[in-house]
Amino acid sequence: NHLAVSGRPSFHESVGGKVPLGLRRRQLRVLVTGGAGFVGSHLVDRLVERGDSVIVVDNFFTGRKGNVAHHLQNPRFEVIRHDVVEPILLEVDQIYHLACPASPVHYKYNPIKTIKTNVVGTLNMLGLAKRIGAKFLLTSTSEVYGDPLQHPQVETYWGNVNPIGVRSCYDEGKRTAETLTMDYHRGANLEVRIARIFNTYGPRMCIDDGRVVSNFVAQALRKEPLTVYGDGKQTRSFQYVSDLVEGLMKLMEGEHIGPFNLGNPGEFTMLELAKVVQDTIDKEARIEFRPNTADDPHKRKPDISRAKELLGWEPKVPLHEGLPLMVTDFRKRIFGDQEESTE
Ligand code: NAD
Ligand code: UDP
Ligand code: UDP
Repeated sequence: NHLAVSGRPSFHESVGGKVPLGLRRRQLRVLVTGGAGFVGSHLVDRLVERGDSVIVVDNFFTGRKGNVAHHLQNPRFEVIRHDVVEPILLEVDQIYHLACPASPVHYKYNPIKTIKTNVVGTLNMLGLAKRIGAKFLLTSTSEVYGDPLQHPQVETYWGNVNPIGVRSCYDEGKRTAETLTMDYHRGANLEVRIARIFNTYGPRMCIDDGRVVSNFVAQALRKEPLTVYGDGKQTRSFQYVSDLVEGLMKLMEGEHIGPFNLGNPGEFTMLELAKVVQDTIDKEARIEFRPNTADDPHKRKPDISRAKELLGWEPKVPLHEGLPLMVTDFRKRIFGDQEESTE
């Protein structure tokens, strides 16, 4: 129960406690930072559907108003253009902290801004959570494991991260965000949750964000060659966005702090992924090899035993089912179909 933990009045108490008991847990005030982005907007859909009042805070660096435009007429939905690197005053019961560019191309674009977002931005959201007694969930990343020496990755593994490389603004930034989260938990008694998200794909991903799934899908649709970096033998595990959102909500509502790996254990080399994309979109699509980027992790696959056992969660959508759903969305957006580009 939210109250027992925070010791502060819930929304329903503060409005007079007139809401029927059965609805109490459902109608929360929830802040989603980065809620206009890919994952955030899908999370917002589910929270709104559940009956929560949702506030999105987003600076629109990689997010788009269009991702949440279908909620703008809803009086229980609000979007605020704000950069989390600056303090903000709000009153909510839960904070899902997602604000941070996720694609390597975007987070390397302005690395100092990325690390500020992860460190100062997370500090501000923790300070906010502390002031109002809100529950705080951090979306961390599999990148905290760096180029892992343990496979698959278990939450107890401390990782193999280059502190001075071109990816460090993101992976060291997220590691610091995890540290801050645990220090606010221990030092300020804050109720916190940590998710370590593995590669996720689905509708509303930025079309040209440089991530491998969005690149391959857009390239195949545009009849361009699929760009495989390096020898294409590096591996990743791809999770469909609805599975992730389910996991994030179970984590927030559950009793356990984490960290929890949230990802799909199905592991693919980039060449295997290219084959799935060819089979789904265009069997004739060509493959073109390109030099790989610095510090690219060689392999990645989540061990999700902890989430299975303690959250009762596991992904349901395999790549061959999720990919066509994303292709439908990309096709509409690339070829300018008149229909709405949401799921
Ligand atoms: P995204 O880039 O689509 O969304 C991030 C959102 O945060 C965008 O709407 C962006 O405008 C906003 N944002 C960025 N900096 C901000 C700032 N300083 N102030 C306010 N808003 C800001 O990325 P996503 O894929 O939706 O990722 C969401 C979260 O999940 C991120 O924290 C990311 O690190 C984490 N994550 C994602 C993946 C993945 O595969 N998608 C994997 C691991 C972790
Ligand atoms: N903060 C915020 N909103 C709030 C409360 C705090 O943005 O409602 C910011 C605050 O500006 C500070 C950070 O969160 O930079 C950490 O706050 P905390 O109170 O933990 O630390 P302090 O302000 O004492 O350094
Ligand atoms: N990659 C690729 N072709 C592309 C984009 C990426 O082969 O057009 C590779 C990249 O080198 C990495 C993997 O795909 O090994 C996943 O990259 P992505 O940027 O999607 O996410 P990451 O897991 O590196 O954050």
